[in-house]
Amino acid sequence: MKDLLSIFYPSYYTKNTYSIDFKKLKELGIKGIIFDIDNTLVPHDAPADKKAFRLIEELKEMGFKLMIVSNNEEPRVKLFADALGCPYVFKALKPAATGYLEAFKKTGLKKEELICIGDQIFTDIWGANRAGLKSILVGRLYPYEPPHIHLKRMLEYPVKLKYLKYRKKRG
Ligand SMILES: [Mg+2]
Repeated sequence: MKDLLSIFYPSYYTKNTYSIDFKKLKELGIKGIIFDIDNTLVPHDAPADKKAFRLIEELKEMGFKLMIVSNNEEPRVKLFADALGCPYVFKALKPAATGYLEAFKKTGLKKEELICIGDQIFTDIWGANRAGLKSILVGRLYPYEPPHIHLKRMLEYPVKLKYLKYRKKRG
């Protein structure tokens, strides 16, 4: 039977963004990375910090094309992305594919050369799947989140469990 929840499954799952093996991604043929901001690169609503700067610099040196795609308003996204020197898409409307597709076109890469990294199943991962892009689901960086996101986490939980079971079976 077809697993109905598989539309929400990421290509990969890792503890957090900073534990990703980016060298391995490069070996897998990935040339571009589309990042979410909140709880993916920094805690919710935090400005770009040293850790984020260091990672972005490292990834640029490795030759990755980088994009920021966020559902947030332009002032937040612009300030953050400009600080890191990354092009961005704001009000991306994730889980719609729109913002991701706009970013994909800007990179000039093939879909299979891109990967999206985000912390939320029902926005970042579902959107990436709808756009036909690979994705990495990351654990959140910091426990504090606004109430509406807490609610989404509760809804995400059974999907995440199902995905982890599926992954275990898949090996
Ligand atoms: Mg996020």
